[in-house]
Amino acid sequence: MDRFSVLSERFPRLPLEKDFSFRRHTTIGCGGVAEVCAMPGSAESAAALLKFLQREKIPYLMMGAGANVLPQEGRFDGVLVRFTGLCGLFLAENGRIFAGAGVTGGALCRFARERSLGGFEPFTGIPMSVGGGIVMNAGVAEGHFSDVVERVYAIDSGKLRGFSLSECEFSEKRSLFQAGLPVIAAVLRGTRTPREILEERSGFFREKRKDLPKGRSMGCCFVNPPGLSAGKLIDECGLKGVSCGGAYVSPRHANFIINEGGSAEDIGKLLSLVKETVQKKTGIALREEIRRLGWDT
Ligand SMILES: Cc1cc2nc3c(=O)[nH]c(=O)nc-3n(C[C@H](O)[C@H](O)[C@H](O)COP(=O)(O)OP(=O)(O)OC[C@H]3O[C@@H](n4cnc5c(N)ncnc54)[C@H](O)[C@@H]3O)c2cc1C
Repeated sequence: MDRFSVLSERFPRLPLEKDFSFRRHTTIGCGGVAEVCAMPGSAESAAALLKFLQREKIPYLMMGAGANVLPQEGRFDGVLVRFTGLCGLFLAENGRIFAGAGVTGGALCRFARERSLGGFEPFTGIPMSVGGGIVMNAGVAEGHFSDVVERVYAIDSGKLRGFSLSECEFSEKRSLFQAGLPVIAAVLRGTRTPREILEERSGFFREKRKDLPKGRSMGCCFVNPPGLSAGKLIDECGLKGVSCGGAYVSPRHANFIINEGGSAEDIGKLLSLVKETVQKKTGIALREEIRRLGWDT
């Protein structure tokens, strides 16, 4: 029996999609297909699915909004678990927000603003789901997820478990959950702030993003080394505009790779070229911020 049939028989109410296209569902617009995509709609359903996949040794990958991933070309013979169905968003006591992993960054910012809760404005315009944002500790210099998280709920050894802020091990574009723990939801802390101020701050962050490169990308490809800008280093190494197949280093912002019909291999080669050149010319080893999907399965 193929995996689509196995899953639909075992989980009759679980939304499934056959031959899921990474090219269509990621911001970078490359990659092949996954045999099946499963989109659980509740924490219980996600926990049951992941327990089943692990027990049956079925290979799986996880994805949120697909804004920071580089999916491999070809066919992934396994299951892609997407968390976009976990979209509960509630106001809890004392300015806390409960958000499911599939809530979009835009919905979270709007929800907080409409309830006069501050702290989320730096996320304005960042393409993401709450789950992906937590895994990546997304944000900008003025604020990251680690500044608003109170508790994260993730599946650990087949069970839903709450992680306190210190247990999340957040650092620059990193968290404990990158070890492969599926994030299901979070309790986030807002600060009471007049709505006009929130509107103004959101406008400030929206304006700041206006100059970012347009086109298909994964955002910044490399983490800034301590006290330095990865984009500036790449620019100083003369790499702006360098291309490989249909992908090139943005002439506007050297930490962005823009894809115009290139393959994952083109982008992978360009990432290696940037890393090697920067290492050779400056002695600095850049760390990839983007997450490769399926490259070692
Ligand atoms: C134009 C553009 C601008 C950007 N600007 C910024 C910026 O200003 N600041 C910033 O920090 N980032 C930025 N990014 C990167 C991206 O928006 C963030 O990294 C964001 O957190 C990705 O969220 P996502 O839901 O798309 O995660 P995905 O890209 O889908 O996944 C990222 C990683 O998390 C894993 N994952 C996703 N969801 C879950 C889950 N629920 N449980 C467990 N693992 C999961 C995936 O397996 C993958 O390893 C930008 C990207 C683009 C395209």
